[in-house]
Amino acid sequence: MLNKYKIWIDEAGRWPWLGPVVASALCFNPENLPDKVLLNTINDSKKLTEKKREEIFTQLIELSRWENPQVYFWVWVVDNFQVDEINIKKANKEAMRRALVELLRKIKKEDIGSVLVDWNDKYTFEELDVQPIYVVWGDGKVLEIWAASIIAKVFRDKLTDTYASLYPDLWLENHKWYGTKKHIDYLSDKSKITGIHRISYKPVKVVLEKKEKMLLHICCGPDATIPIVDLKWKYDITCFWYDPNIQPKKEYDKRLKAFIKVCEIENISYIVWEYDVENFFREIKWLEHTPEKWEKCSKCYDMRLRRSALEAEKLGIKLWTSTLNTSPHKDLEKLFKYWDEHSAEKWLEFLKIAFRKNNWFLRSVEYCRENNIYRQNYCGCVYSIKDKGDFNW
Ligand code: SF4
Repeated sequence: MLNKYKIWIDEAGRWPWLGPVVASALCFNPENLPDKVLLNTINDSKKLTEKKREEIFTQLIELSRWENPQVYFWVWVVDNFQVDEINIKKANKEAMRRALVELLRKIKKEDIGSVLVDWNDKYTFEELDVQPIYVVWGDGKVLEIWAASIIAKVFRDKLTDTYASLYPDLWLENHKWYGTKKHIDYLSDKSKITGIHRISYKPVKVVLEKKEKMLLHICCGPDATIPIVDLKWKYDITCFWYDPNIQPKKEYDKRLKAFIKVCEIENISYIVWEYDVENFFREIKWLEHTPEKWEKCSKCYDMRLRRSALEAEKLGIKLWTSTLNTSPHKDLEKLFKYWDEHSAEKWLEFLKIAFRKNNWFLRSVEYCRENNIYRQNYCGCVYSIKDKGDFNW
């Protein structure tokens, strides 16, 4: 009578933050066992050197190819996308089940004596007539366990080598997919998450859901309202106030106060830059009496956007934009042109969004009314004041 097969199913890659989970199902041929030299070499995979594990792996493959194989095994891989979709416990079971199904093509079901499964997940496999035995930390106990564990581990290590060559920045050879300090440091922002990361795993999910930082140049309190309200859910906003174009100083102070009030209501951080009004007059020299939207205004947009881009660069914030385009009185094409130029110069990205569309202006009027935010009645510089009766330096 045939000695029954003793099958062991093991996995590698359950705990890491990325990559597939790999399972192997293995049994020796009880009628044709490998020679004692190999059997004596097989040990707990953790106690073997990488080189030794690879040697045993190669030998086991060789023996499985014989006409009367001394060992039967199969490996199944479930990728990180499926891990995210069905969760790791189910993905692990699926890898084990598929490895088992393939192994059952090589041996008869009725010849199986026992099936041992690593870890205490109490998986059941419809494909089997026997109930599996679950062994926690089983890969330290018997020969089949060690062999199955070596197969799964070396197979996954070989995948690691391939991925390491595809993602050199990931330092896979260093952290072997686990959440080491090096791996945590690498995942500084969501652009670092690769196609092999398990995005359902909390440390990766946290990075993925982290809001991108954005510098938002503010031209006045009312124009800051709706951009802040709508963008703050998606971005980690820092507002930047640089508006030396506003005169007189008491009007500047009034507008600055309105802006700070909006930031406080919306709980947004802000930076106020100096009131270098002389710089404004220097920039627009000889252009003072050009009409609104013309050369004087181009200089005015440009100086404020240039300073904002510099601040974004200084703060290490890649994405920026400005509320300057909220007002229908500003030249959108010119604004976009300056944004493009300053972004290219500083390697920044700007959020090309026309705040004036989709009722943003009407919503801002409503917001200011409800929150008692001061609304100005002229653009900002002395030249834009229609009635200069009240003008006072
Ligand atoms: S009119 Fe407005 S945009 Fe033009 S220069 Fe004066 S403050 Fe600047």
